[in-house]
Amino acid sequence: MNQNQYDVVIVGGGFTGLTVAYALSKAGHKVRVIERDDSPGGLAGTFEFGDGVRLEKFYHHWFNNDVQVPDLVRELGHDGEVITLPSRTGMYFNGRMWRLSTPLDLLRFTPLGLVDRIRLGLLVLQVRRIKDWRAIEHLSIREWLEPLCGKHVYRVVWEPLISAKFSVFSEAVNAVWFWKKLALRGSTRDSKGGEELAYFKGGFGRLADLLVEAIRKAGGEVSFGLPTTGLVTEGKRVTAIDTPAGRIEGKRFVFTPAFPIIADIFEGSGAPADWLARLRRVKYLGNICLVLRLKRSLSDTYWLNVNDPGFPFVGVIEHTNFDSPQNYGGDRIAFLSRYLAVEDPVWRYTDEEYVSFALEHLRRMFPEFDRGWIVDSKVWRAEYAQPVTEKHYSQYVPPHETPFDNAWIATMAQIYPEDRGTNYAIRDGRKIAQVVAASLR
Ligand SMILES: Cc1cc2nc3c(=O)[nH]c(=O)nc-3n(C[C@H](O)[C@H](O)[C@H](O)COP(=O)(O)OP(=O)(O)OC[C@H]3O[C@@H](n4cnc5c(N)ncnc54)[C@H](O)[C@@H]3O)c2cc1C
Repeated sequence: MNQNQYDVVIVGGGFTGLTVAYALSKAGHKVRVIERDDSPGGLAGTFEFGDGVRLEKFYHHWFNNDVQVPDLVRELGHDGEVITLPSRTGMYFNGRMWRLSTPLDLLRFTPLGLVDRIRLGLLVLQVRRIKDWRAIEHLSIREWLEPLCGKHVYRVVWEPLISAKFSVFSEAVNAVWFWKKLALRGSTRDSKGGEELAYFKGGFGRLADLLVEAIRKAGGEVSFGLPTTGLVTEGKRVTAIDTPAGRIEGKRFVFTPAFPIIADIFEGSGAPADWLARLRRVKYLGNICLVLRLKRSLSDTYWLNVNDPGFPFVGVIEHTNFDSPQNYGGDRIAFLSRYLAVEDPVWRYTDEEYVSFALEHLRRMFPEFDRGWIVDSKVWRAEYAQPVTEKHYSQYVPPHETPFDNAWIATMAQIYPEDRGTNYAIRDGRKIAQVVAASLR
């Protein structure tokens, strides 16, 4: 048999691709993962500071009601290593921080009058009443929320968050995204309204490493630093993918990068033009994330939503108010996250320009903050960070099947009505692995 021929070739070594590969290799199939980056994990991947302290490029946690993650961790033999920790959530508004973890915190949120505060609290109950998301898929978030919580609550609380998250697409995103977020967050709360979030001991990178190890142990191969540049087809079958290291043949293929990347890979392969156009129809936002390693803490809040339109971040996430600073050489870790269209001039800032830009705003938020606190910093960019689920998304998002009988797509923009996340990457990875395994039988 040709050494370079596999039962299944999987493009992308993020959590979806690794899960597909793990499930199929465990079932005895000869698999190969082709990953463009030098390390696994994709958007949930990690990096190391000079002294070996390792953490996510983009902040990550799970919700305590995510089921796929603990299940996979158990399967990998690391039961008990998903740790749950109380999360302290706050909101930065009008020059100060407001705690917003419990219903009592909500009642103390004086920028809103008492009636509006009650309306805000009741919103979660109203949201839970929606059982079928299709009923609100034709509405924008504003069109759905304003009648429910009132224009003032929308303007103060939700509009700044939604425009920080979706930037130029704020009015285009359908209401399902918001409904699912609120419904899911509501169900992760304990009886007092507090919230616990989950994390993997050693971080998401360690979990990705464990998956790679398990794939290799089961006889699979995982290659890093190897982009897929194109492919070869014969009629309605894909026969091989092209990489700078040569052609890799397979019986089945699974593609996990973002839709536009998949469209580029299939371009010129004989794939129908209307299908390629459908892949390119889905829009995305990019994310720039500044990771700060600090000598001192900014605040005691883990997740600080920035509701002040003058600040260019969706949130300041102080990771070490969640996972212990001991795991980061005793230092504090803060992520400053900004979603933006890649056409935005800020996307093209150099790292140095972006750090200056971000710190200027951070100092307005935390006046005592000083550049001298910074031990190290790093800027990460993801071009396809957030799919934009516009009105009637379910009708135009491409399915897992492709025009080729032996190729499937499992990408994060297909996670819907939920929002993308590693828990669902694992769910969809397992689902596609079953489909592929059935086709090999
Ligand atoms: C800022 C931010 C915060 C987030 N926070 C959370 C969180 O708290 N919790 C959570 O669960 N999720 C979070 N997510 C979402 C989570 O990271 C993703 O949903 C998940 O990692 C998607 O996994 P994936 O494998 O489907 O896609 P990806 O991680 O995008 O993997 C696709 C892989 O394909 C590779 N690739 C691309 N092109 C090629 C090519 N031509 N050839 C070969 N390989 C290629 C990429 O390098 C990548 O590794 C966050 C995402 C962002 C951007």
